[in-house]
Amino acid sequence: MKYLVTGGAGFIGSHLTDALIARGDSVICLDNLSTGNSHNIEHLVGNPSFEFISGSILDVGLVDSVVARVDHVLHFAAAVGVFTIVDKPLESLVTNLRGTENILEAAHKHGAEVLIASSSEVYGKNGGGPLNEESDRIVGSPLKSRWSYSEAKAIDESMAYFYYQEKRLAVRLVRFFNTVGPRQVGHYGMVVPRFVSAALAKEPLTVYGSGSQSRCFCHVYDAVAGVLAVIDSDATLGEVFNIGNDDEITIEDLAREVIEQTGSSSVIEKVLYEKAYAPGFEDMQRRIPDITKIKRTVGWSPKRDLSVIISDIAEFLRTAH
Ligand code: UDP
Repeated sequence: MKYLVTGGAGFIGSHLTDALIARGDSVICLDNLSTGNSHNIEHLVGNPSFEFISGSILDVGLVDSVVARVDHVLHFAAAVGVFTIVDKPLESLVTNLRGTENILEAAHKHGAEVLIASSSEVYGKNGGGPLNEESDRIVGSPLKSRWSYSEAKAIDESMAYFYYQEKRLAVRLVRFFNTVGPRQVGHYGMVVPRFVSAALAKEPLTVYGSGSQSRCFCHVYDAVAGVLAVIDSDATLGEVFNIGNDDEITIEDLAREVIEQTGSSSVIEKVLYEKAYAPGFEDMQRRIPDITKIKRTVGWSPKRDLSVIISDIAEFLRTAH
């Protein structure tokens, strides 16, 4: 099979590209290297199954010509990370809305299958308990950047879904919950690489807010295995699947674990949300995936726990930088 991975030089996209090539597929990677990084794919350069195209998903002509050459599009190019969303809300919206529309339109024209990478951000601040694919979205004002990001991802899903329903485009949707691992960088806000790199540098680990907010972290290798299971199944067409790990941990406990596992002398420093982000920023108190549907449909579940995640990220940061 020949795949186009948009955002293929990014964190999840590059691991996905590796996995596809390792199993014998060919990949064209389209990336504008905004948050993606050429280091993530440099080991693939020269591989006859791999082609890199530097460009944007907003370039309609380019998207059309690349999609025409593949069987399947895996759409991972997007504005990524809470810092990016807060700093560049307009650019983030345009990338996430127009970019996805360009991909869907080209896939429809050329008869390619499509997987859209969506996000647990679509659930907004619904923190009641494990979130399944039918759970309600609870979002605040569309004038707040975090909620506009949630809206954009939700509209992407709706658009893809109605291409499936009305135009018979072969669409699949996945919602990633906090996905972490090697190649992820902390510049865009992600807590685990930020904590691990601070611990390795013996700098304070900055816990925003009380630290009682919780998340569930999924190793990127597990997440990629989930994507492959979804794209390889016909039972997943026109469906959306949560991809995540359901082991919950508070951010303060995460900080403690990182310090302990790396043997660091770092301390934990509490930072007010208003200092960490813009005033009025709203965080989610809790976000846990219900992964019953993906388990039942394709038999996928995550295999790696937090200690593997922390040691793989520490290893990456020690060797790559
Ligand atoms: N966070 C933190 N310190 C940091 C970065 C993030 O305490 O240096 C917190 C953040 O406020 C949130 C959690 O960690 O409560 C997860 O943040 P991240 O941006 O990784 O993911 P998301 O908020 O999108 O789940």
